[in-house]
Amino acid sequence: MFEFRLLKSEGVAAPRLGELRTARGVVATPVFMPVGTYATVKTLTPEELREIGAGIILCNAYHLYLRPGVETITALGGLHRFMHWDGPILTDSGGYQIFSLAQFRRITEEGVIFQSHLDGGARHFLDPETVVGLQEGLGVDIMICLDECPGYPAPEEEVRRAAGLTLRWAGRSLAARRREGSALFAVVQGGMLPELRREQAQAMAGMGFDGYALGGLSVGEPKELTFETVAATTAALPQDKPRYLMGLGTPEDLVEAVAQGVDMFDCVLPTRNARNGMAFTSAGRVVIKNAVYGQDPRPLEEDCGCYTCRNYSRAYLRHLYVSREILAFRLLTLHNLYYYFRLMANLRQAVAAGTFAAFRREFQQNRIEGGNTRG
Ligand SMILES: [Zn+2]
Repeated sequence: MFEFRLLKSEGVAAPRLGELRTARGVVATPVFMPVGTYATVKTLTPEELREIGAGIILCNAYHLYLRPGVETITALGGLHRFMHWDGPILTDSGGYQIFSLAQFRRITEEGVIFQSHLDGGARHFLDPETVVGLQEGLGVDIMICLDECPGYPAPEEEVRRAAGLTLRWAGRSLAARRREGSALFAVVQGGMLPELRREQAQAMAGMGFDGYALGGLSVGEPKELTFETVAATTAALPQDKPRYLMGLGTPEDLVEAVAQGVDMFDCVLPTRNARNGMAFTSAGRVVIKNAVYGQDPRPLEEDCGCYTCRNYSRAYLRHLYVSREILAFRLLTLHNLYYYFRLMANLRQAVAAGTFAAFRREFQQNRIEGGNTRG
């Protein structure tokens, strides 16, 4: 029901080309998964997502557990049916959200007790077994184990304790599986300690998961450290399983992480920034509210084939945005996701052609010439 095929690899912790084969379709990797936390990729319909190139989307089990409740979704035929998306779905367990959003939390060996940010602060208890059960109840294609994600910086002792707990929870998650057909990915933690990351990755690889997520990154550490840690982790993971870098990143991040052998990504940036009036282009960022676009007849990006760029000027988009028209959010989201999917397609093509290094140089050069390299 779930299989990863490695079609090409340039070495250990190096660019790869692959395929995720699921019951709901085949997805070419490296792949970007748009974020649909609450069972919707904000402002777009599943048909629109398909049309611009989405193959797999991400939802969040923690948020759906709190609202509307997994039982409700199960009773309505599962998550795919509920949200009318028939392609593969990966759900994040919500480990990160519990640690970042909950008003109160206490972690024990058993699991985590927390007060949610919704429902008037009611107390909840989740353990690794329950979290697998919730994702099976949703009927998703790829499930993620519950993990503990320390912040940055954190004392080494704390990072080691969280990594150890995450490893034991991964073992319990594996034993808790009841349903055929949903793949299970473990989350490799270990802070910014390359040796601990390697140990964790090797221990988890020995347990035989369907794939491996890299968690606890982009939590405030410098970018160089992020990619050193990614490289140390991917080098210790099995070549024949997919690697998923959680919650990162900018277009620049995606190119760098593909260079380190990452296969799967998710990030709120293209959708969230669209709603904040920011468009991604190959020359850098366009902040559409800026007065300079007030009379600009050009599309967001000249050679972009998206619906927005084929039909609307920057001047019109700026007008919609400053008037707070809903269409502005939709059109910018369409463009940004199209941009991300096109970037991934170009990356795959470069890996396939053996021209990744040249692609990476040109990509960086374009951004320097565009005068905007920051997110
Ligand atoms: Zn466009």
